[in-house]
Amino acid sequence: MLRASLQVKFSVSYIAVIVAVLVLMNSYPIIVSENLVFRSKETTMKSSVSVMATALTGLAELNEENVATAMTVAEESGVSRILVTDDAGRVLYDSRETDSAQGRYAFYTEIVQALHGNDAFSVAYADDAFQSRCSSPVIYRSQTIGAVYAYEYDTEQAALLRNLQSTLLRISGGVLIFVVLISILLSRVLTRRFGVLAGTIRRMREGDYGGRANVGGHDEIADIAAEFNSLADRLQSTEEVRRRFVADASHELKTPLAGIRLLADSILQTETMDGDTLREFVGDIGLESERLSRITEDLLRLTRLDSGAVEGAERVAVAPAVARAVHMLRLVAQERGVALSAHVEREGTVLATADEMHQIVYNLTENGIKYNHSGGFVRVTLSGDDRTVVLAVEDNGIGIPDGDLPRIFDRFYRVDKMRSRAYGGTGLGLSIVSDTVRRRGGTVEAAQREGGGSVFTVRLPRAAEEGGAQT
Ligand code: ADP
Repeated sequence: MLRASLQVKFSVSYIAVIVAVLVLMNSYPIIVSENLVFRSKETTMKSSVSVMATALTGLAELNEENVATAMTVAEESGVSRILVTDDAGRVLYDSRETDSAQGRYAFYTEIVQALHGNDAFSVAYADDAFQSRCSSPVIYRSQTIGAVYAYEYDTEQAALLRNLQSTLLRISGGVLIFVVLISILLSRVLTRRFGVLAGTIRRMREGDYGGRANVGGHDEIADIAAEFNSLADRLQSTEEVRRRFVADASHELKTPLAGIRLLADSILQTETMDGDTLREFVGDIGLESERLSRITEDLLRLTRLDSGAVEGAERVAVAPAVARAVHMLRLVAQERGVALSAHVEREGTVLATADEMHQIVYNLTENGIKYNHSGGFVRVTLSGDDRTVVLAVEDNGIGIPDGDLPRIFDRFYRVDKMRSRAYGGTGLGLSIVSDTVRRRGGTVEAAQREGGGSVFTVRLPRAAEEGGAQT
């Protein structure tokens, strides 16, 4: 549809312009040359007739004899017919021999005008010939005593004009055929490129994200194709991330579900299960379902972050969030023999929600405790400058190998799956931290800590003081 209509539009507009030019090219020169011939006829005819009239002027009276004598002198060779009449319009002389009008009355318009004392001239192009008529009175002592009339039937000039006309027509025909072909060709090339683009877009809509539009050229269509291709690149990578995420998520959900099923089957199939084992199995089922709800909770949180539904930001003080997380994790740290401490070097306020700040501090601190040795430490420090609030969580735990650092914030990425699972990890904690921080205009980075362990640094823009200054 697109191809047909665009192609037709392009072709029709090219052809319309050319047809207009051709019509002009065919009519203008013909009209001009016709006018030129008319004008030249007028001059030559008028001068011939006036020569003849002058030759008769000396005669006091016109009769067949004296007119015939005068005309043998003045007769003009180029003219087809000459008539001389007396003052009553009776023909005294006719240059045409066959079917001569001599002796008869001739009342051609031009002769009548001449007998009234006026010169007359008319010319017309008809029957493939220029037909010119010219007349002049013969005056003797201010009296019109007769009229001279000349008629010319010129096929020679007419043939020249016809020749010009047919040459122009032939040229126009050639040009028209050429233009029609070129316009069809050009519009086809143009619309073919649109077609390539439309085809690629259609395939992409149908789910083939690998296709790219290759239209060639360096014009606007090429620009559109390039824009489209880079859009396709983005879509493809987003789509890949989404697919991987869905696959990983289902895998993560399947594991605890399989565990629950296995435990339930064991309970059902073992007829005489002692109370302790039963309690242990049911306890395990409880743990697995806890894991399931943690994963779904994290997934929901990430989906909310993905959908771009940013909750309204408010001014949140970071120090209380640090105090709260440290307070909540104190017992866990104690249990694992890890020393947990918080240091506020400079209090900071950021634009976020209290829950987001809690998530960030809590996830990082909990990781510091989880991936640690007994006797290790986790230190949470709040600092920063006038523009940035810096939250650093460092530990001297097991650390993260160099090769894993770049992927540590990926969804479900875990350096040691078993260890993560053993501590109830979902592999989503750091993704939530990094997505939240980015959403609030900050950055987070993970690094190895000098002397062992790791350090996570979150930087968020400092919120302006209500009065304008920053805290
Ligand atoms: P998890 O639920 O597995 O803790 P996270 O997204 O919080 O998921 O962390 C991803 C992985 O990064 C963890 O499985 C762990 O291997 C590694 N990791 C995170 N924090 C630390 C840390 N402080 N020290 C060492 N490894 C860590």
